[in-house]
Amino acid sequence: MNARGGYAAAAFETRAEEAPSAAVFADFLRYFVARDPRNHLPETLPDGERLRIWEAPLVGVAAADDPLFAALKAPDVVGAMHRSPAEWLPEAKSVIVWFLPYTAALRRGYPKKKDAMPSLEWVSGRRNGETFNNATRRAVLRFAQTLGGKGVAPSNEKDYRAVSMRPMWSERHAAYIAGLGTFGIHGALITEKGCAGRIGSVITDLELSPTPRPYRGIYDYCPYPAEGSRQSKCGACVPRCPVRAIAPEGRDNPRCVEHGRDTVGDYYRAWGYHSCGHCLTWLPCADRIPFRRQIARSEPAEH
Ligand code: SF4
Ligand code: SF4
Repeated sequence: MNARGGYAAAAFETRAEEAPSAAVFADFLRYFVARDPRNHLPETLPDGERLRIWEAPLVGVAAADDPLFAALKAPDVVGAMHRSPAEWLPEAKSVIVWFLPYTAALRRGYPKKKDAMPSLEWVSGRRNGETFNNATRRAVLRFAQTLGGKGVAPSNEKDYRAVSMRPMWSERHAAYIAGLGTFGIHGALITEKGCAGRIGSVITDLELSPTPRPYRGIYDYCPYPAEGSRQSKCGACVPRCPVRAIAPEGRDNPRCVEHGRDTVGDYYRAWGYHSCGHCLTWLPCADRIPFRRQIARSEPAEH
């Protein structure tokens, strides 16, 4: 073990000589997700195997002073309680964001039927996968220290909270700014690896090159909002939600939370798991950018 950064950082000791870069952090994250033993469900299959939770992450970087962060304070985006990177870390220069895609085993093990409960593997992956994501945030912070920097993982800070379901730091929006994807009408981020996954982030004072954003609009990867254009529409997530919480105008968050917490939570009470994943599975955007040919944009986004 390495006192500063743990075994994963120790494996990267040689790279500590390099200038910190987005590529070095991406390599570190891929290494950590591939090698850390916590990236497995605690439940064993009959043959003794424990399924992996996450595949290799997508990694992006946003400049801490990107003007889009200030735009998140608007009431129709996140809200005034959303803190900018500099409000979390005055010396902030960069925001490192990653998307952890669920493994195919967890995605495909989710029931296709609308009225079925989520699989045990899914609800376990949601809970234990987020515990792993927290460990990933801590590991990235320690790795930043190894490279001579410092950082903050807002989601792990003790004063972090959501006010009326609006967070003080939105990792989905940070991922959008960091070039990782655009939103779907189900509220999740659609990335090159789809929407079935979780997002993590760390703000650091290290100066890293921002990742280009290959899109212009917040719904570029979801064809549904393109009403009135010639693009094909989708809308598959609307009827798939078991409690009709998804509409073209957006997601009914209280209804969604109630279903995951109460209905699914009651079903999995003995395990202490909850959460629903119907709108992240068996959809055109579950593991890819859907209808890519139809929604291809004419110009790349400006940066
Ligand atoms: S299922 Fe279709 S309409 Fe719903 S978010 Fe995905 S791409 Fe958009
Ligand atoms: S997580 Fe489940 S309840 Fe919530 S919007 Fe998606 S499908 Fe509906």
